[in-house]
Amino acid sequence: MTTAKTKPCPICKKPRTEEFAPFCSSRCRDLDLAKWFGDGYAVPGPAARPEDLVAPGEDGE
Ligand SMILES: [Zn+2]
Repeated sequence: MTTAKTKPCPICKKPRTEEFAPFCSSRCRDLDLAKWFGDGYAVPGPAARPEDLVAPGEDGE
């Protein structure tokens, strides 16, 4: 069996390691995770609709 052509770490392009594949280290793995989380939480949604903020006039007590 020949040495498989290993793809580099997608983060830093260093040779990946088996333990952290497809990354080279836990650092790059965490970086990739953080990137995904960053994308997810970076989406700016409408904080609140004006309809929800403005009271209809009588709001009980
Ligand atoms: Zn890396």
